[in-house]
Amino acid sequence: MVSRVIPVDSFDLVIFGGTGDLARRKILPGLFRRYCAGQVPPEAKIIGAARSEMSVEEFREMVRASIEEFGSTPHEPGQLSSFLERVHYEAVDATGDDGWEALKSHLRDDTIRAFYFSVGPSLFGAIAERLRDKGLADAESRIVVEKPFGHDLASAKSLNATLAQHFDETQIYRIDHYLGKETVQNLMAVRFGNMLFEPLWNSQYVDHIQITVAETVGVGGRGSYYDKSGAMRDMVQNHLMQLLCLIAMEPPAKFDPDAVRDEKLKVIRALDPVEPHHMVRGQYAAGGDEEGYRVHVENEKSRTESFVAMRVNISNWRWAGTPFYLRTGKRLRARTSEIAVVFKDAPHSIFGADAGRHRNVLSIRLQPNEGMTLDVTIKEPGPGGMRLVDVPLDMTFADALGPDTEAVPDAYERLIMDVIRGNQTLFMRGDEVEAAWAWTDPIIEGWEARGDVPKPYDPGGPGPEDSLMLLHRDGRRWREIKA
Ligand code: NAD
Repeated sequence: MVSRVIPVDSFDLVIFGGTGDLARRKILPGLFRRYCAGQVPPEAKIIGAARSEMSVEEFREMVRASIEEFGSTPHEPGQLSSFLERVHYEAVDATGDDGWEALKSHLRDDTIRAFYFSVGPSLFGAIAERLRDKGLADAESRIVVEKPFGHDLASAKSLNATLAQHFDETQIYRIDHYLGKETVQNLMAVRFGNMLFEPLWNSQYVDHIQITVAETVGVGGRGSYYDKSGAMRDMVQNHLMQLLCLIAMEPPAKFDPDAVRDEKLKVIRALDPVEPHHMVRGQYAAGGDEEGYRVHVENEKSRTESFVAMRVNISNWRWAGTPFYLRTGKRLRARTSEIAVVFKDAPHSIFGADAGRHRNVLSIRLQPNEGMTLDVTIKEPGPGGMRLVDVPLDMTFADALGPDTEAVPDAYERLIMDVIRGNQTLFMRGDEVEAAWAWTDPIIEGWEARGDVPKPYDPGGPGPEDSLMLLHRDGRRWREIKA
């Protein structure tokens, strides 16, 4: 199957923080891959802007090295050099006056201007203000802001208010890279493009839904940042919440940014507060050659969670009575992100008790091997009695769609192209982010007020024992964490 690549209109993209980790690992290699795919027009400009004094040649050399290290793609001879000719650099002080005029001189009239804020949130306001005051941005310009979008409701509101002083909501693209993943969009295609699933997509037929985002790594070099954040702020408030919204939302009237985001917002607003006994927090202990969480973050009294599991209820007509179990953590058995829709048992088994208990499960994997499987119960082949077995109908996209799916853009590539197209569907709206914090804040405040201490858990496993109990108590079990 050959995927169609539709070039976007010409653009000037300024990357604030162009020398930073995110730009080097994701944004610049992603732009190169889109360039090779023919999606970036040859006259587009990419302008790095950061604090360091650096010549354009030095910056191009850094971009070349980043592409080679973090994700090149098969390309024609000379394509990397021609891409690098599109790349420019200006040293700009986000909080001062230096560099802005020079930066402005790169920007063309009648061309889409996008400004990617790949810098810490404390600089968002200063950059937004200068883009306006110094005449770099116009009413058509777009700004892209990275996570974390706030630390709590108050800070998210203040960030939204600051950006709103200079830009209209239609110009603001808040990135959650989970929304750029192929499977996440496929989730919408599967739900709303087929007749098969949607009639069953409710509490009458769905027993429960599990969302798991598991990592094998620990906090790495982000220890001091992570210890002030924790799994709830770093993963649940944004990534897991977005997945929950897409799986639970009502069908929007059309696939249009505000229609989709209105429906997502309704899900967040329908979330019940979470009872303390429906949550489990954990902190990874030492194991193998690695130290435990508290050593990694250099805080021996840390009460920040590197794992959280919870049972969430959505109080609306569709989902009343169907719990959603969310779990995410570091140093777990495998790196995997999966949504599993577990359907109810057939109302009556004509095969008797010996046939065992069988359930249809639709599993949507975001990583690795993006794809879906549907467990269907069939007769176990062979002579003799009627024994049942669950077999997966496997819809691994790479198998079904052929080798071309290897050219599927990664999340950042897709999202940057959407910014240029002016399509906000896969970006979080300000009110969505605020609603997510409004639900998250009382949970975190509750932990703080109770002096909750996360349970230690062994690395390489499924997380704390109590998290298994969270489902056992309800007569259910987590799906295995496996790659
Ligand atoms: P980084 O520290 O590696 O890079 C920061 C960049 O900002 C550098 O280019 C630096 O020169 C520039 N900068 C800092 N102060 C400046 C100033 N006053 N004026 C102009 N430029 C200035 O950070 P990063 O890891 O690239 O992260 C950037 C943003 O993206 C952060 O908000 C981070 O939370 C977010 N983010 C990063 C990742 C990741 O994988 N690195 C993932 C998700 C979100």
